[in-house]
Amino acid sequence: MTKPLIQHFIGGRVTESTSGRKQAVFNPATGETNAEVVLASVEEVNAAVAAARAAAPAWADTAPLKRGRILSKFKELIEKHHDDLAAAITREHGKVFSDAKGEVVRGLEVVEFATGIPQLMKTQFTDNIGGGIDNWQLRQPLGVTAGITPFNFPFMVPMWMAPMAIATGNTFILKPSERDPSPSLMIADMLHEAGLPDGVFNVVQGDKVAVDALLHHPHVNAVSFVGSTPIAEYIYTEGVKRKGAFPMRVQALGGAKNHLVVMPDANLDQAVDALIGAAYGSAGERCMAISVAVAVGGVADQLVEALIPRVKSLKVKNGMEADAEMGPVVTAQHKDKIEGYIEDGVRSGAKLLVDGRGLKVPGHENGFFLGGSLFDHVTPEMKIYKEEIFGPVLCVVRVPDFASAVELINNHEFANGVSLFTSDGNTAREFSRRIEVGMVGVNVPIPVPMAWHSFGGWKRSLFGDLHAYGEEGVRFYTRYKSVMQRWPDSIAKGAEFTMPVAK
Ligand code: NAD
Repeated sequence: MTKPLIQHFIGGRVTESTSGRKQAVFNPATGETNAEVVLASVEEVNAAVAAARAAAPAWADTAPLKRGRILSKFKELIEKHHDDLAAAITREHGKVFSDAKGEVVRGLEVVEFATGIPQLMKTQFTDNIGGGIDNWQLRQPLGVTAGITPFNFPFMVPMWMAPMAIATGNTFILKPSERDPSPSLMIADMLHEAGLPDGVFNVVQGDKVAVDALLHHPHVNAVSFVGSTPIAEYIYTEGVKRKGAFPMRVQALGGAKNHLVVMPDANLDQAVDALIGAAYGSAGERCMAISVAVAVGGVADQLVEALIPRVKSLKVKNGMEADAEMGPVVTAQHKDKIEGYIEDGVRSGAKLLVDGRGLKVPGHENGFFLGGSLFDHVTPEMKIYKEEIFGPVLCVVRVPDFASAVELINNHEFANGVSLFTSDGNTAREFSRRIEVGMVGVNVPIPVPMAWHSFGGWKRSLFGDLHAYGEEGVRFYTRYKSVMQRWPDSIAKGAEFTMPVAK
């Protein structure tokens, strides 16, 4: 049977690729090929840029209120297709359906925020700075912008970018992950139905060829990237090097190793619940997943004792089953990679308390399943501590006191999210101030900021200056312009040769 072929969406319509390149899209729960996705050629990317460029002037001139109304309609359509979107995510990514539904909501919240764009584009005005002159600012769109997104949130991460770019008056090209591309076309359809003019939102499916073509194109003025750190660093350095009259603006969000510190005074039951959800939810394939539990003082033995039965009893199933807690990982290659890390952890002397390898899910023998794994006595020089595993593997590191916990975390190269479980307000306050991490939770396991509080890590978890969505998103997608104006009645005669000052 021929498989569906997932195409591009350029200039307001599905556009068939002629590149001759494509790749399989799997259902990770069954291991079967669900569909195939085309991989763009440079010419196809150029066509998308041309469509986005042609649409840019009229869209930039469209009143922000009108842009916001189209996004309001888009929001209604997302609500209408909530279940279809979530099912498409589960089918290609593997995460459990209820989690996929949550992903859709977190993406929708950014759309909701972006509908308020008239207020967000407002700037400051100073009446009469002197001599009949007024001074104010404009926030103007950049033109053609692009977003390159990872597999782990095929709806939410594109929503961190596209609604903000479009609301601020830019046109946008999405290059989604080739591993779960279907939601990208559903987004395109809904925006089209919402009344977005052709060419304002485009999708090019593809791999490195498409990414490089976007990065090197002289008319792509900004790139937002979310993915792993090596690629984030590459995108940032390549993007800012691009020659042209408009220096490319780049924000590139990278990988993570998120710690959750359990203080001796923490409510242990709550900390264990938090660790189980945050380490194993979405099979650990979240950039805000907790992959290290830092046990402070004497809490470690009790913590580990409480974790073991919970990890062993995780319900790992096809994500479409109602009681599934954890689905498969995204591909067979990714499963092998995670298993390689587990092997490495054992070899380097960490104590493997629960081994998730070899799990078979009845009726899904070819699915990419792994059970939860739990390591104790992990130390900072081990590879399983230093690198992002991006799978259902939790490492417990034991430290003597609070200061050592802070030092451990601040020495890690990744600094996306972090969490502290404590019942002491002073400890919480000190932690929030001293920790060198972009997003901090206190008794909150996954502190993903709301749509109006921007998202971003520090250090090697983000390359660039501005975080995603929220007000930082508005800044990223606009250029600030200062206007100073006066009218003939207030203009004094004669040339001035001194630095102008307020009179
Ligand atoms: P990835 O870096 O492999 O891929 C991300 C995107 O880059 C994809 O669209 C892919 O096609 C493209 N790409 C891959 N290799 C490339 C190359 N050599 N040259 C140019 N482009 C390339 O990431 P992934 O595996 O899809 O996603 C998981 C990673 O994303 C994890 O590291 C996770 O922490 C990270 N992530 C970070 C955040 C964040 O906000 N910081 C959010 C979600 C995911």
